[in-house]
Amino acid sequence: MSADATVAAAAEAMGRLVIDVPDFPEPGILFKDISPVLADHDAFTAIVEALASAGRDDSGATVVDKVVGMESRGFILGAPVALALGVGFVPVRKEGKLPRETYAVSYDLEYGQATLEIHTDAIEAGERVLLVDDVLATGGTVAATRRLVERCGGVNHAVSVLMELGALPGRDAVGELPLTVLATV
Ligand code: AMP
Repeated sequence: MSADATVAAAAEAMGRLVIDVPDFPEPGILFKDISPVLADHDAFTAIVEALASAGRDDSGATVVDKVVGMESRGFILGAPVALALGVGFVPVRKEGKLPRETYAVSYDLEYGQATLEIHTDAIEAGERVLLVDDVLATGGTVAATRRLVERCGGVNHAVSVLMELGALPGRDAVGELPLTVLATV
């Protein structure tokens, strides 16, 4: 399947299976529940392939050295993307979860504030990195993760997300990086 056809199949599955949950985890938030997509083997396969396409060149060769996934749905998505690309996976975790020396960056969420951390030795200098998460909302998570990759000496290559909340300025955090989005909602 071509990269475009892969993204189209994934987008169709997203439109069919993602469930909107109003007022979760607090009033005013329309939560995007992706668990039905994960529970459907064909849909899960399609979205992993589509997210991974950002880590390949036109000939299909892998052009990244690591996939970084942000806690916690970025783990579920990023780990199979890393395997599909034949590269390693690096978790970016919430404060206090990683057991060894970390770099830390604080950021604003759509709902609340948080700090993200990465192991200082998780990415080698010059390694190219694909960032994977489920939802791009305010862009705070992506912006913080970009800074963590840079602190390690890595090079941010591209960002892949299932959904972009079109009413929010998340795209600004992605800046000049290529952005793969399967659905704008
Ligand atoms: P942000 O940093 O504002 O771009 O928010 C992105 C992070 O928050 C992602 O890791 C998402 O999992 C989560 N998130 C934000 N808004 C939503 C939403 N409406 N539905 C589901 N997850 C969300």
